[in-house]
Amino acid sequence: MGPRIVVLGRQGAGKGTQCIRLVEEFGIVHVSTGDMLRAAVAAGTPLGQQAEAVMKAGELVGDDIMNGIVAERLSAADIVENGVLLDGFPRTPAQADALSTMFADRGEDLTAAINIDVAIEEVTARMMARGREDDTAEGIARRLELYEEQTAPLLAWFAERGKLMVIDGLGEEDEVFGRVRSALGL
Ligand code: AMP
Repeated sequence: MGPRIVVLGRQGAGKGTQCIRLVEEFGIVHVSTGDMLRAAVAAGTPLGQQAEAVMKAGELVGDDIMNGIVAERLSAADIVENGVLLDGFPRTPAQADALSTMFADRGEDLTAAINIDVAIEEVTARMMARGREDDTAEGIARRLELYEEQTAPLLAWFAERGKLMVIDGLGEEDEVFGRVRSALGL
């Protein structure tokens, strides 16, 4: 059974990049809820149609929808075997509770939560530079505001459970990856 890791950090902190490295080196399955939603929008599915405006505004898609998507994905055989990197989920206390129930129902537990820590000014500059479709100035500001409001409290939630590891996300990609590996003992 592979590790079950939650990857936290502000949008633009480099979560996606670090996840790709972990996938390449260790074969862990990357589950990015943002990527899943963007694929649904591109494919024009009912979920995509529902999520599109919410994402453009930088708001959060509803907890019930997100919990359903993740629960279904986590039950797939590749994840049970190779482990999972959850990127972009949980984002609210209700999602964190739902996640612990999903694991508990299967007799599993979270291995670790890593927080890739980069200051607000730095992530804002990075997001403006990458120019993704939902990266409007207002969208970025709103997403960062929601992160502080909804997601930052999860750091304490994971810390209380002895699962949180904080990683300095400033520096070269390789340097940060070295910190991630040693934090996870990989
Ligand atoms: P991300 O790529 O993780 O920054 O996600 C892009 C957008 O997708 C977010 O701004 C939200 O609108 C939506 N989204 C992704 N994951 C979640 C989640 N766990 N809960 C609610 N909305 C989400």
